Amino acid sequence: MSFYYWGANKRMITDEISQLTRARSAQPILNFDLARELTQQHGSPLLVVSRSKLIDTYWAMKEAMPGVDLFYAAKSNPDHHILSTLCGEGAFVDICSHGELRAALDAGFTPDRMLHTHPCKTEDNLLPCYEAGVRWFVFDNQLEARKIAQLTPDVNLLLRLAVTASSSMINLSAKFGAPMEEALEILLAAREMGLSVRGFSFHVGSQCMDPADYCSALQRVRDLWNQASELGFDLEMLDIGGGFPAPYRHDAPSVSSFCSTIWNGLQESFGDLQIRLIAEPGRGICAESITLVTKVIGKNNRWGVPWYFIDDGLYGSFSGKVFDHTDFPLLYENSGNRELFPCVVAGPTCDSSDVVSRDQMLPDLEVGELLLVPCMGAYAGASASPFNGLPVARSVAID
Ligand SMILES: *Cc1c(COP(=O)(O)O)cnc(C)c1O
Repeated sequence: MSFYYWGANKRMITDEISQLTRARSAQPILNFDLARELTQQHGSPLLVVSRSKLIDTYWAMKEAMPGVDLFYAAKSNPDHHILSTLCGEGAFVDICSHGELRAALDAGFTPDRMLHTHPCKTEDNLLPCYEAGVRWFVFDNQLEARKIAQLTPDVNLLLRLAVTASSSMINLSAKFGAPMEEALEILLAAREMGLSVRGFSFHVGSQCMDPADYCSALQRVRDLWNQASELGFDLEMLDIGGGFPAPYRHDAPSVSSFCSTIWNGLQESFGDLQIRLIAEPGRGICAESITLVTKVIGKNNRWGVPWYFIDDGLYGSFSGKVFDHTDFPLLYENSGNRELFPCVVAGPTCDSSDVVSRDQMLPDLEVGELLLVPCMGAYAGASASPFNGLPVARSVAID
C-alpha cells in the first residue's frame, strides 16, 4: 500500500471563494504501486490519463449546466486518449487549427460536432477546416469578416466579445474579442458583406476562480443581444467560452458549485430565449484526469541545499509553469514519517532556468524514486517541447 503526502506543499486556502463553495484539491489519479508498474512497462516520464476521471468531470459539468452543449477545447490537451474518450461520451469539440481538426477527426468527432474558435485565421487554417465540413467559426473584427466573406462566405459566425473578469489567472480578452461598444458596428458590416452572424461568444479568461464573472458578462451580453435583435439580427447561439478552474497548489471550487452558479446566471439573463447554449471548457474538463509520473535521475548538495534532478521539466510537461502560470504540487511516497527539507527540484535539460520548484518541502529523495504530479491534464503536455534532444513524456490511459 502506498500513500502520498504533501502537507507542507499545499498552500493555505485563503480566498473567500474556497470558504463559500465546496473546494476540491489536486489529487493524483493513481498510486505509487501502479505508477511503478506503468513506468516499468512504458518508461518515465509518463503522463497517465484516467478515462473514468475525465468522464466523471465531463458529466459533473453537464449535470450542473443542463442543456448546455460542451465543446471541449482541444487546445488544452489534444491527446488522443482524451479526445476519443470525450467523443465517446457525446461531447462536442472546439478546434483552432488544421492540426486540431485532424486530431479531432482521428478521435472520431465528425465536423458537425466541431466549432472553430480561432478569431484570426490564415487561409491554410480556414480552408482545410471548411473543406472538411466545419461550418461554425468565430471572428472579432471587420478585417476577419472580409477574409471569411472572400474564402468561405456560407459559414455560421459567432462574434467574439471582449469581457473583463477580475478573478481569472489568464486574461484571454487581452488578445481577442471585440469591444462591446463596437459590436453592433461589426455586426452591421458583416451583414453588408453577406455573412451570417448567429450569435456571440466570450471567454472570461482561463482558470477563472469566481463564477460571478460569467454572470456579469452574461448581463452585458444580453443587453447587446437585445440591441442586435432590434436591428433585425436573428441570433440563435450563445457561447460562454471556457475558464472553468482546476485545483493546483491552490484549491478550486467544485465543478458542481461553480457550474451551478453559471447556470443560474444563464437562466437569469437568457432563460426567456429559445437559443442554443454552449461552453468551451478545456482545463476544467481535462486537468484533473492526468497525473505525471516522473523519476529522480540525480541529486546534488549545492552550497548546503539539496538539489533533485527529475526526468521532466519546464521544457516538458512542466511547461505549464511557464506559459500557463500554474504551480503543480509534487507528491512523494510513504511520507507520514519522512522528515522534510527545503530543496530545489530541477528538470533534465542543461538550461539553468529549467527549475521546477524552489519552495516545496521534500524528504531526502533517492535516485530512481518516483514523484507524482497531479492535475497535469491541461496546458502541460500540450505545450511541451523536445528541447535538448529530450523526448516529451509519453501518455498512457487507464480506466
Ligand atoms: C483556450 C480557450 C478555451 C479553453 O479555455 P479553458 O480556460 O481551458 O477552459 C476555450 N475557448 C477559447 C476560444 C480558447 O482560446
